[in-house]
Amino acid sequence: MELNSDQIKALKGRGFLLNKDGVHFSCRVVVPAGKLTAAEAGKITAVSEKYGRGYFTLTQRLDVEIPWLAYEDLDQVADELAEAGLAVGGTGMRLRPICTCKGNVCQFAFFDTEEVAKKFHERFYNGMYGLGLPNKLRINIGGCPINCSQAFMACVGVYGKKAGQVAITLGGKLGRSPQLIGREIRGLYSIDEAMDLVEKTIHYYKENGQPGERFASMVERIGFATVEDALLK
Ligand code: SF4
Repeated sequence: MELNSDQIKALKGRGFLLNKDGVHFSCRVVVPAGKLTAAEAGKITAVSEKYGRGYFTLTQRLDVEIPWLAYEDLDQVADELAEAGLAVGGTGMRLRPICTCKGNVCQFAFFDTEEVAKKFHERFYNGMYGLGLPNKLRINIGGCPINCSQAFMACVGVYGKKAGQVAITLGGKLGRSPQLIGREIRGLYSIDEAMDLVEKTIHYYKENGQPGERFASMVERIGFATVEDALLK
């Protein structure tokens, strides 16, 4: 079936990305906090064998992609993944699934990053899914200053600085130039305080970002100190 560019774009927004052959699609499966149970992994394996070519890949941000899917099968793929509680998505002009380190088991972690990432996922990814942002927004969570999850490189980074207290960084960006490193806002915060600040940050981006503008570019344009003051007011 021939799809036009609007249909392909709409599918991308739902988590189905056109493969380079221009015919097949990859299905992005959202993996909260980068953790899959054996049952969930089994379902992904089964779907990739039934509809794809018997394999799947991991994304940089700990989600899964099942490639080589036929357009006609995409709804069925989503339905079968949902049987195991798995959602398709993680694309589009919205907050992307939260990326975190292994601070649920790592001996250096100041807090349980899996638990916190899942809280962020529920409140911001699921809770603000339809909000509509100027561009994608990425949040990375790290359990300690070693920063395996590269919180500084995300639009918004949250990482453990000492027991019970996290630092927040704003304005990191990888990808096309310029590549920017996020800067830390003043103060340290409890997880609950950090979540409130992140919510404020998301709304600030929605209200002040220009269409298509990445969060880091907005911070550059407005000025880090101005954004910081507005968020801490
Ligand atoms: S960032 Fe720190 S807590 Fe997280 S995995 Fe790395 S060393 Fe462990």
